[in-house]
Amino acid sequence: MGQLALAKVRKSYDALEVIKGVDLHVRDGEFVVFVGPSGCGKSTLLRMIAGLEDITAGEIAIDGRKVNDLPPVKRGIAMVFQSYALYPHMSVFENIAFPLRVEKMAEDKLRARVERAARILHLDARLEQRPGQLSGGQRQRVAIGRAIVREPKIFLFDEPLSNLDAALRSDMRIELAKLHRELKATMIYVTHDQIEAMTMADRIVVLDGGHIAQTGAPLELYHKPDNVFVAGFIGNPK
Ligand code: ADP
Ligand code: MG
Repeated sequence: MGQLALAKVRKSYDALEVIKGVDLHVRDGEFVVFVGPSGCGKSTLLRMIAGLEDITAGEIAIDGRKVNDLPPVKRGIAMVFQSYALYPHMSVFENIAFPLRVEKMAEDKLRARVERAARILHLDARLEQRPGQLSGGQRQRVAIGRAIVREPKIFLFDEPLSNLDAALRSDMRIELAKLHRELKATMIYVTHDQIEAMTMADRIVVLDGGHIAQTGAPLELYHKPDNVFVAGFIGNPK
């Protein structure tokens, strides 16, 4: 399971309200993409879902259970950021295994988990290498490996490819689509790249100034944007 529901979610920093009442339901296994201009609240929303940020009002539920007060490690969520820090002195294996070491998982179970993650991400042959010996795309895959090794139900990606060049980005999009199919996990993916949104999403959520401007399947938004703002982001301006 990996169903997510946001009801009237708000966030203020002092007097500044940055999330202004978001209602959203994400189905188990759905791939949802958040788009919107810089500062519209995409990262804040992800951090609140992950539990890295308190919510000011409203409710977040995972599989029908309210999680407002649940710490990040208990939510069954993994988050992958744009800038990721690998440990340069550790092997790829140990970098991926790190969250399981923190949990003190038994060695045989841990090894099986890391090998499965490495197989999915095509890092099997790299497990004994160090991050410095890898390409940018391979390093990003190690970072994703560290997220999937805990086998979460829900993945949150915050512009994970924006530091990669165009060719790598396109490879990684294909990898992530495969990952989504193999894990059958729920994914929420933030990007400002229209091509990423159009090609990866089951459904796109367009955010504008802390609220949802429109949500729908990529082609639906493309052909029937509700307003000029959505058209400017995704749509086919007539
Ligand atoms: P996005 O990811 O869409 O670019 P963010 O979620 O990072 O947007 O930010 C949304 C708004 O909240 C911005 O106006 C930003 O300046 C503000 N903001 C984000 N984090 C903080 C913080 N810790 N304190 C005060 N304001 C913040
Ligand atoms: Mg952001």
